[in-house]
Amino acid sequence: MADPLANKSQATPIVGHLIGGDRFVDAGDSAPIFNPATGEETRRVAFAEAATVERAVSAAADALPAWRATTPLARARIMFRFKDLVERNADAIAAVVTEEHGKVLDDAHGEIKRGIENIEYACGAPELLKGEHSRNVGTGVDSWSERQSLGVVAGITPSNFPVMVPLWMYPIALVCGNTFVLKPSERDPSAAVLIGELLSDAGLPNGVFNLINGDKSAVDALIADDRVQAVSFVGSTGVAQAVHQGASRAGKRVQALGSAKNHAVVMPDADLDNAVSALLGAAYGSCGERCMAISVVVTVGDETGDALVAALAERVRGLNVGAGTESGNDLGPLITEPHRDRVVGFIDDGVDAGADLVVDGRSLATDRDGYFVGPSLFDRVSPEMRIYKEEIFGPVLCVVRADSLDAAIELINAHEYGNGTCIFTRDGAAARAFSDAIQIGMVGVNVPLPVPVAYYSFGGWKRSLFGDLHIYGPDAVRFYTRQKVITQRWPSSGVIEKAKFAFPGSD
Ligand code: NAD
Repeated sequence: MADPLANKSQATPIVGHLIGGDRFVDAGDSAPIFNPATGEETRRVAFAEAATVERAVSAAADALPAWRATTPLARARIMFRFKDLVERNADAIAAVVTEEHGKVLDDAHGEIKRGIENIEYACGAPELLKGEHSRNVGTGVDSWSERQSLGVVAGITPSNFPVMVPLWMYPIALVCGNTFVLKPSERDPSAAVLIGELLSDAGLPNGVFNLINGDKSAVDALIADDRVQAVSFVGSTGVAQAVHQGASRAGKRVQALGSAKNHAVVMPDADLDNAVSALLGAAYGSCGERCMAISVVVTVGDETGDALVAALAERVRGLNVGAGTESGNDLGPLITEPHRDRVVGFIDDGVDAGADLVVDGRSLATDRDGYFVGPSLFDRVSPEMRIYKEEIFGPVLCVVRADSLDAAIELINAHEYGNGTCIFTRDGAAARAFSDAIQIGMVGVNVPLPVPVAYYSFGGWKRSLFGDLHIYGPDAVRFYTRQKVITQRWPSSGVIEKAKFAFPGSD
């Protein structure tokens, strides 16, 4: 695998763009990339100038006619080779993810595996793109539907899953016959560049996949370009909403996935030990920087609350925090220094608001060079507190006490976000009532992170998703294609038919 760094001769290497099969760095601005475990600047990332965005979209537009004319099977074969290359290079990719994002190596491998599942799904392109056919919809008239590609499409991805989220988008977009421009997060872009180059090694023609690095101005330029037909966005809700509005106004198809506040309900009959184990990983894994992280536990009944908080506190105090490269660590640092400070600010805020801080991880923020915060646990959090209302995106778990399952459901439904939720119980009826009534897009029963597998689609409700279709899986085939229905008849030659003025029926 090639090195992700575009220019190794520089003192601080610069991560560049991938356009038409070439890597390059433009003359514009660049921004630092830090190793969150040490606080050191390790690379810089080039910010695409307007001309670079134009060049990437032109490369995608030029590659489109030949690519959309290829057979779905030919596209799927490239994906088979691509999957194999990603698997063979998984160690190198995971190392880069840990170096730039901070998550522990096991977790980096986990997101690569889930990303690969989306490539595997895309390998089914010939089956996925099959239409419907009806013979004799009228006498001698046949009709069928087919799905045609949209054209040039763009994807904008967040920092917390630098491998998996891009793979939610472009494998399926490409096999549907589109060409793609990816704009990964500027905080940890190298893994996306590494993987993007593997597409060329797998035989993808130049220009079918392009990658530009940058920030808001690159995103705005992509949205403004009339040749871009659709935009998939994943990131924080404020930006998701703005991207959804901007792209919709520009007449594009758009799906924009945003922030989350995911609640777990613990019922009095739950298997407490297993619930605690599940919650530890779901709340503190990846240092809480997951859109499906559990950040609130709602306990039903005071006894459940007391028992859960006592068991959780003991286990939280035992978690190991350190560099993601060192084995034995459960969680690494947060991604940037400002984000670390923001998370510490939330903990200060929770204390000031009167919540009970049972485990305080703030000392790690001052004791270490990297962007560390220790796992923290709040009890007796109430809905008007900022730590309850806002997404913290850090290793902070809030416990809210409720009197009944109905009260828990009401609380969760009132929250502005609706990404994921779960219930821990042994009672099937309670689980069913919860799944029915809860206004959340992804629901787990004794499953703390109910992230759908690649052959279902992923998406939240309320302000966690702007747009109609969820991401990856069957909804992605719908999102990245346009349906056409063709009706045809072949009158017998030599027969002169009369003009008919009544609206045609199905006779
Ligand atoms: P972010 O919103 O800061 O950045 C996401 C992307 O948007 C990046 O590529 C960034 O360069 C770009 N961007 C930033 N500001 C922009 C602006 N003003 N205009 C246009 N583009 C802009 O998000 P992040 O911090 O990288 O990721 C964490 C957030 O993403 C969390 O809120 C998390 O919940 C959310 N997220 C959601 C999902 C989901 O599936 N719902 C998945 C992963 C992450």
